[in-house]
Amino acid sequence: MQRITILGATGSIGESTLDVVRRHPDRYTVHALSAHRQVDKLAAACAEFRPARAVVGSPEAARELEALLRQAGVKTAVSHGPEALESVAADTETDAVMAAIVGAAGLRSSLAAARAGKRVLLANKESLVMSGAIFMDAVREHGATLLPIDSEHNAIFQCLPTDDPRYRAGVSKVLLTASGGPFRTRDPSTLHDITPDQACAHPKWVMGRKISVDSATMMNKGLEVIEAHWLFGAPAEKIEVLIHPQSIVHSMVAYADGSVLAQLGNPDMRTPIAYGMAYPERIDSGVTPLDLTVAGGLHFEVPDLNRFPCLALAFDALRAGGVAPAVLNAANEIAVEAFLAGGVRFTDIARVVEGVLGQPHEGSAETLDGVLAADAGARAAARQLVASLAR
Ligand code: NAD
Ligand code: MG
Repeated sequence: MQRITILGATGSIGESTLDVVRRHPDRYTVHALSAHRQVDKLAAACAEFRPARAVVGSPEAARELEALLRQAGVKTAVSHGPEALESVAADTETDAVMAAIVGAAGLRSSLAAARAGKRVLLANKESLVMSGAIFMDAVREHGATLLPIDSEHNAIFQCLPTDDPRYRAGVSKVLLTASGGPFRTRDPSTLHDITPDQACAHPKWVMGRKISVDSATMMNKGLEVIEAHWLFGAPAEKIEVLIHPQSIVHSMVAYADGSVLAQLGNPDMRTPIAYGMAYPERIDSGVTPLDLTVAGGLHFEVPDLNRFPCLALAFDALRAGGVAPAVLNAANEIAVEAFLAGGVRFTDIARVVEGVLGQPHEGSAETLDGVLAADAGARAAARQLVASLAR
């Protein structure tokens, strides 16, 4: 039996993870679940999976959850706040941690799981974007097993040889695929009028709103380039992005001898989630088997950086190094939040990120506090820019 903690259990990745757990009661038990505000949904999951612990975002949410659980006769112990998240992530009673909180809010708990030497199923890409060096050091130092859940990185992980340097030397490139999002072919001069609902209507994947907007700007791919750099030790020159609108090839690895290995499947996050949960075994995930005869053609194209300036900004931040990726991520979170709230235009997202990247940065990438200082400084700068652009 593997005991699993799911952080961000009410989100899109969290729900898919619970669906895989549900299919394998003989293999998995749920140790802890977390949610920020969706107390009703978390209460329902606690009633079904009977975790020992549940964590929510505030004391009010904790009281509400306790009342619901009492009514339902569920004995889950409830706590709240960031420290409680770190505590359930590092608990000796859990073997694996699904890190599926969205944004910088997921950093400390993901890191706590790594420092406790857990099997870390990492969906929260922001942990690596913000503090890749610190995170990867923690994984090595504490003997954690890091399994990438982001579909592209999961695909690359499946296509790479073991990390023995003799075999890795033969890798010439990692090729990250991107759907291109909902605006791949839209006239760029009309992008300033995009509404949040249009930006969140992804053609291939059903995801949370923040990552959906990031897919529409292709900032998501930019964050993934930085994520791939840390996960696979690849410099920016060895990471290439290809638009692949069908979302069937989830990414590829090119080798010195001309071979290219790809991982294919229907676009459904339960595949990488099940892979991470059972690794190195393979289990049923509930995903419809891929039928290439009905998939139609598979197309690939080079992304247009004028249409997707956020992708170019992410490459710039990776090359600049230090806290630049953390600054990029923080500025983007503020800009996307403002866009979703109707405060700025879709096209302002890139302007805010570019503006903040162009200013001097606070903090340092050496320590977690340094990274958090960079994050806070970039958020303040982004809020100012958002206010100056506000409609
Ligand atoms: P989501 O918005 O659907 O869910 C987010 C979860 O985090 C919810 O359970 C929410 O309660 C919790 N949460 C939000 N703010 C919080 C806070 N301040 N403190 C604690 N918990 C908080 O997001 P999602 O789409 O499931 O994405 C989760 C993570 O996985 C993100 O980092 C995203 O980039 C990554 N990811 C998602 C997908 C996908 O298909 N959805 C694919 C690849 C990677
Ligand atoms: Mg992805």
